[in-house]
Amino acid sequence: DRSNQLVGKPRVIAVANQKGGVGKTTTTINLGTALAAIGEKVLVLDLDPQGNASTGFGIDRRNRHVSTYHVLAEDLPLSQAIVGTAVPGLFVAPSTLDLLGLELEIAQEKNRAHRLRLAIEEMVKDLSDGFSYVLIDCPPSLNLLTVNALAASDSVLVPLQCEFFALEGLSQLLSSVEQVRAGLNPRLTIHGVVLTMFDPRNNLSGQVVADVREFMGDKVYNTMIPRNIRVSEAPSHGKPVLLYDLKCAGSQAYLRLASEVIQRERDLLAA
Ligand code: ADP
Ligand code: MG
Repeated sequence: DRSNQLVGKPRVIAVANQKGGVGKTTTTINLGTALAAIGEKVLVLDLDPQGNASTGFGIDRRNRHVSTYHVLAEDLPLSQAIVGTAVPGLFVAPSTLDLLGLELEIAQEKNRAHRLRLAIEEMVKDLSDGFSYVLIDCPPSLNLLTVNALAASDSVLVPLQCEFFALEGLSQLLSSVEQVRAGLNPRLTIHGVVLTMFDPRNNLSGQVVADVREFMGDKVYNTMIPRNIRVSEAPSHGKPVLLYDLKCAGSQAYLRLASEVIQRERDLLAA
């Protein structure tokens, strides 16, 4: 029975796009926070060596004793890497620059693409009071870290910046997702595409939105994240924008995105 299968297991969503600067980390932080605000229990798993998602929650580099590197390279339990944040119900498994060396370190290992999947499965067994969502902040490339994320996930959420080359990168990402589905993870689906840094005053933004909607159809969330100064200021205060300025347009958009994400999950369960 499908619904039983999902009880107690988190929905694992990889936030991925091999382009840098499109809003992956911002979306992971703020969608995660919005989901927690709605009552979900959320784990943000930082898989980018830059560690911007960890920093964005105010997790000091000196307080990352156990990081996703230790989980992937040294088989430490994921449950040991998890730290709390100022957001009730939201936890982070932080990353450090050590992750940069991971690819070489585990290149020869047979299970190298499945390390994260196995770590999450162990965590689910370890924790009695489990997460309902795990959001994985992926690095800006299609390297072994991203492959681990895709192999461990139920679905992929793709942030797309409203700019001219957006669609070009998207096709490349979709074919990688297809490859992972064919080889490593048959259950992988596209959760959706979220348009970020939308600027209604920019004509090009509007054209890109129309093109992406034509290409991806209803995979594109109705919610677009506007370009908003409060969104870009928040990380320097070590806070998600929802804690920094709940009323701003960026916070409100991420709350709407969270309810769309939950609605899609309900539709999946009902299907
Ligand atoms: P990625 O993780 O894909 O590299 P980031 O989430 O780090 O991208 O975003 C890149 C830059 O754009 C960051 O400086 C971030 O603060 C800024 N940014 C992201 N989303 C918005 C937004 N909606 N409004 C304004 N600035 C944004
Ligand atoms: Mg990032």
